[in-house]
Amino acid sequence: MDAGIAAVVALSTGEKIADPRHERRDRTRLAKAQRELSRKAPGSVNRDKARRKVARVHAQITDRRRDFLHKLSTRLVRENQTVVIEDLAVGNLLKNRTLARAVSDVAWRELRRMLEYKCAWYGRDLVVIDRWFPSSKRCGNCGTVRTKLPLDVREWTCACGAVHDRDVNAARNILAAGLAVTACGDGVRPQRETSRTGRSSVKQETQWATAGTLRLQEEEVNRSDIPEEPRRPATRRSR
Ligand SMILES: [Zn+2]
Repeated sequence: MDAGIAAVVALSTGEKIADPRHERRDRTRLAKAQRELSRKAPGSVNRDKARRKVARVHAQITDRRRDFLHKLSTRLVRENQTVVIEDLAVGNLLKNRTLARAVSDVAWRELRRMLEYKCAWYGRDLVVIDRWFPSSKRCGNCGTVRTKLPLDVREWTCACGAVHDRDVNAARNILAAGLAVTACGDGVRPQRETSRTGRSSVKQETQWATAGTLRLQEEEVNRSDIPEEPRRPATRRSR
C-alpha cells in the first residue's frame, strides 16, 4: 500500500484505524457485476437482472462505508472531549492518483460531517487545524521542521534522535496545535464547529469542501461525564 493508505486515520495515541476490510472485495464484486451487465443483450430480461445486481452491490458498499464511519466517529466523539482534525488541501492529494482513490474511499468528507454533528450532540469541541500547518514535517519531540518529507517516507528519524511514524507524529502535532488554540485562541486559525444540526453541517461542508486524508487525533479525557447518545434513525447494518 501507498502513502497514507495503510491507515485511514492515525490517532495521537499511536493507534491507526484501518480501512474497512470489505473495501477491496466489494470493489472486485462491483467490477464483476458491471462486467456481466455489459455482456447482456440490450432490452433482455437478463440485462435487467444484471442491472439490479449492480445497483445492489453499490448499495451494499455505501451501507458498509457509512456504518464504518458512524462507528468510528461515534467512538472518537464519545472518548474525547476535544477532537482535532486537519483541514487538508485535497488538491495536492488528487494529483496523485493512488491517493485520490484513497481519499474518496475513505470518505473523509463524510467522516468530518459526522464528527461535526456528533460533536454538537455531545457537547464536544471539534477543532480544525489550518491545512498549512506543517504537521508531518515537524518533529513532535524537538519542534524542528524539516524542509522536505516525501509522501513515501512513512517513518523518519529526526536529528534529535526521535524516531517518528509519519502519521502518528503528524497526529500528535495537530493535537498539540489544536489544544494550544483551545487554550489561547490563536495561532493556527481553527474553525470551531458551532452548528447544532446535521443540516447546517452539510451546508458548511459544501463550503469547506476539503476532502482530505487521513489524520485525526484525540485527546484523552475522563469518561465519566459522557452523556447518553441522542436518539437518531438507526443506521443500517450491512453484512
Ligand atoms: Zn526532533
